[in-house]
Amino acid sequence: MGVRLLVASRSDVGRVRAGNEDALLVADDPRLVAVADGMGGHQAGEVASATAVATLLERVQHGEPIDTAISAANDAVVTQSQDDESLRGMGTTLTAGMVDGSSLRIGHVGDSRAYLLHGGELRQLTTDHSVVAELIAAGELTEEQALVDPRRSMITRALGIEASVAVDVLTVELEPGDRLLLCSDGLTTMVRDDAIAEILAAERDRERAADALVDAANAAGGADNVTVVVADVVDVDAPFEDTMETPAVAGEVVAASTAAATDDGAPTVTDDGDPDGALEALRDAVDAEVSAPRRRWWQRRKRS
Ligand code: CA
Repeated sequence: MGVRLLVASRSDVGRVRAGNEDALLVADDPRLVAVADGMGGHQAGEVASATAVATLLERVQHGEPIDTAISAANDAVVTQSQDDESLRGMGTTLTAGMVDGSSLRIGHVGDSRAYLLHGGELRQLTTDHSVVAELIAAGELTEEQALVDPRRSMITRALGIEASVAVDVLTVELEPGDRLLLCSDGLTTMVRDDAIAEILAAERDRERAADALVDAANAAGGADNVTVVVADVVDVDAPFEDTMETPAVAGEVVAASTAAATDDGAPTVTDDGDPDGALEALRDAVDAEVSAPRRRWWQRRKRS
């Protein structure tokens, strides 16, 4: 007895930012999903988030549990930051879920979030490591006040900053019919939980649900990059669907997803520059690692 995931994902630059520092991961059948939200100027944030998900994937595929895999991702970002002056100070959130039987093991650092829609009710599974979340917990700020507080994007924990990082780990039982959402704060600072719940409950097509979430964030101002992974939980024996979320190779999903995310529908992949090629090399390395088996891929995408 077990479950598996059917996944739709989007990452959008939003309406204000010049580049997209978010990264996402959908891999291994897929039983591993993750969202990372990088920070740091001059593309450092993009390197941080991409490094984090790449390291997570590599370690999980070598059999490591999710918390030690996230610690390894921390080490990788720290090392890169120390080795390259232009990357100094970069960091990233990382929220990852791994299916094991009928359980989902979640590892989490930062203010990206995991939610579970179960029986029509949306529950936030992760706790934000943020200034406003701490103030709310201390009774010094209400949820309403937090939505407009100028400190709302300040996080208290991230990968890449210190030699070790405390990783929150939790396990939730999944049932067929559940829907999992991983997202960056570009969604949750723009769209309230009740609106997110409404979209997830109303739009049963997960590809359209993912589009609707990104559209809602952009309609609210799109102040930040917005990344969503919408995963429907199905019985492990349910047939694989013949849709674009289970492509044969990495290149196909990039084209398909970018077409879905691009205003004019043109299937183009854009890149707003990677002067020293480090990001491209990293992406190639990860693509090479994950593109061989069917239904397994790693994806990072930017719009400019
Ligand atoms: Ca963000």
